[in-house]
Amino acid sequence: MSSLRTLRYLCSNQRSLSRTWTPRTLSRLGSTAAGEFTSLPDIEPSRLEVVNTKQPKQIPAADSLVFGHTFTDHMLTIPWSQTSGWGSPKIEPYGPLSLQPSATVFHYAQELFEGLKAYRQPGGKVTLFRPDMNMKRMNTSAARVALPAFNGDAVIELLKRLVQTDKHWIPDIPGYSLYIRPTLIGTQAALGVHPPTEALLFVICSPVGPYYPEGFKPIALYGTTEYSRAAPGGIGSFKLGANYAPGVVAQREAAKKGYAQNLWLHGPEHHVTEVGTMNTFIVLKHADGVTELVTPPLDGMILPGITRDSTLALARDHASGKAVLEGLPEPSKFVVNERPITMKEIKQAAQDGSLVEFFGTGTAAVISPVNKIGYLGEDIHIPTGPGGMGPVSRPIWKQLVGIQVGDIEHPWSVVVTE
Ligand SMILES: *Cc1c(COP(=O)(O)O)cnc(C)c1O
Repeated sequence: MSSLRTLRYLCSNQRSLSRTWTPRTLSRLGSTAAGEFTSLPDIEPSRLEVVNTKQPKQIPAADSLVFGHTFTDHMLTIPWSQTSGWGSPKIEPYGPLSLQPSATVFHYAQELFEGLKAYRQPGGKVTLFRPDMNMKRMNTSAARVALPAFNGDAVIELLKRLVQTDKHWIPDIPGYSLYIRPTLIGTQAALGVHPPTEALLFVICSPVGPYYPEGFKPIALYGTTEYSRAAPGGIGSFKLGANYAPGVVAQREAAKKGYAQNLWLHGPEHHVTEVGTMNTFIVLKHADGVTELVTPPLDGMILPGITRDSTLALARDHASGKAVLEGLPEPSKFVVNERPITMKEIKQAAQDGSLVEFFGTGTAAVISPVNKIGYLGEDIHIPTGPGGMGPVSRPIWKQLVGIQVGDIEHPWSVVVTE
């Protein structure tokens, strides 16, 4: 970044600065690994270097794809160091990274990731869904583990370049997409728990098929009381790799009992938090005829899902009459609440017939209906509606997917290429 651009960046990012900064004072500022303000270069798309693969891979048949097992020809890498800031972004052939065994990522889990998809319409138009939200969350995760902050808009530009490079990998079949995995790791070759002085941001892409190729298949959950996913003051609300390894054993135990995923509960009252690696929604129909869509609040233990946020926004716009969604209960009889909800309330609602739906939301599956929760030795049965989806989740799913694939014009859908 030129000094002038650095200055402009500074001025736009640090409104509270009251003095004039010259390039000289800037160069004396130095940087912080905690992702705070820095005078060092940020990520700069104009510095992108592209090295095309000389050995393009054979693109596998779409129907043979297993989620996250196949990767495209290229990846994006951007190095960072405390002394020189963000280096030149590079699109290069997908391949192994070279890291020292002492790199901090291997010892202290200095790792975070994101997940988003590029959708391709028949005819070729490629879109991303709310990538600004992924970048915002990625920076929030970085700040939590003292990894460096970056300009999210710059990374979106580079993501677009990467997707353009490998867009022929997105199967030209409805329901298929390209799963994009931005990742940030601490790479400093030194033991000792502190902010790493070196880091690497990289992005890999994987062509994926529809999560439910044969229509919606509701899943059974195990209400886990033996393990917890997150705790107050912990890291549950950040997309850090450290959150996921401990869930594997719990998932395996749930599977042994015949359930697909864990339903993560919290505290003595067994508050509902998340479903596996998805956010949770519950639909209740109250005695006065009002349908309530409930999701637990972002209390520091819940991952702020982009599908969650989008579901809430669509549902609220419907409830307020701002943008009515066909199929949902009429606005005057529909309310949306972010509020705590316990297993006692769920169980009671299932017994008295007021439980209408229970579903998970996330980028991979969009919406996952639930038909059963194993809880303290008994099964709570949940209605799922015709075709495996209920009366609230189906219209929301239809609208979300329509926007994602670019069928419905919407500011959330960001065009990569027409
Ligand atoms: C990624 C994730 C979600 C879903 O987030 P989306 O942005 O909707 O994909 C929910 N819960 C956990 C624990 C997650 O890791």
